[in-house]
Amino acid sequence: MEWKAEPITRRVTRQIKVGPVLVGGGAPISVQSMTDTDTLDVEGTLAQVGRLASAGADIVRVSVPSMDAALAMEEICSRAPVPIVADIHFDYRIALEVAKRGAAALRINPGNIGSSEKIEAVCRAAEDHGLPIRVGVNAGSLDKDLVARYGSPTPQAMAEAALRAAEVLERHHFFDYAFSVKASELNLCVAAYRLLSRETPAPLHLGITEAGGLTGGTVLSSIGISWLLREGIGDTLRVSLAADPVEEVRVGWAILKSMHLRARGVEITACPTCSRHGIDVVGMVGELERRLADVRGTLRLAVMGCVVNGPGEAQGADLAICGAKGGQCLAYEGGKMWGKLPAAAALDWLERRARELADGR
Ligand code: SF4
Repeated sequence: MEWKAEPITRRVTRQIKVGPVLVGGGAPISVQSMTDTDTLDVEGTLAQVGRLASAGADIVRVSVPSMDAALAMEEICSRAPVPIVADIHFDYRIALEVAKRGAAALRINPGNIGSSEKIEAVCRAAEDHGLPIRVGVNAGSLDKDLVARYGSPTPQAMAEAALRAAEVLERHHFFDYAFSVKASELNLCVAAYRLLSRETPAPLHLGITEAGGLTGGTVLSSIGISWLLREGIGDTLRVSLAADPVEEVRVGWAILKSMHLRARGVEITACPTCSRHGIDVVGMVGELERRLADVRGTLRLAVMGCVVNGPGEAQGADLAICGAKGGQCLAYEGGKMWGKLPAAAALDWLERRARELADGR
């Protein structure tokens, strides 16, 4: 009998709409990233948004630190291939401006927006333009009274900060919001999300903030995000890396694909190689990832160094190769032996067949 992993039961939440992308309420878990360009550089920002969208970002956030940046958002939002979330701090007038200029959602922290009148103005602008708001709580910028009461940024303090902000929005009859409660300390962050998920029906945007560089940040984010996803918590995610934001999207997708929560593009199983390897697995995998980055249809490939584990992995793959003697590869399709071909021709064969198969999916 085939073994199957215990399915993940996702938490039931309200649903919000970020442009055409549904978040929560059973919608597929979306992948987000954030530009690191100067928002005033419209062409540079759009080029990066385009790269993020091609890598699979469903939603992209853009920082709007000034009124000039708010004006630049009009062109960015109108030409972007994915919905744009405006990230706003301190000046509520920027939120009013971007709401008119095509933003698909606002990310604010009501704690730094100010008076009740200002928050009400933001709520009305969001409502008039059909925009949801993400309340982004960060352990590093909690309200002083909460830190004083709890002694440090605890999960309770973070969840309370989120719920307190939601109370303010709801007081202004605004219910179309999502939360994030991010921290760079993994256990604190996970505990805060876990606690908040029990207290709110709002969708949750997952992320470990300031997680670090490509390797450390990927490990930290993968542990924290997958831990929560496994518990059914999380409706959209952003992997925060001190690296090219395209990597954030790649890692976000890798997490979702590994957990079988969402599929996209080509997944490659590869052995780490050892002295038995008959082909250059490392080089071939890198080249395949580069060649097949644009493929959207879901496909599983395996590239294995030799016949020790190659034929076994080929069983679960749509296409596979494994190294054989004399510079040859054994090629498999649909788990069955397709034939033998020289290693030098294997990449072209894999690319051609992968594109043909993906086209039909
Ligand atoms: S599949 Fe072969 S080459 Fe790859 S790690 Fe295993 S024994 Fe080594």
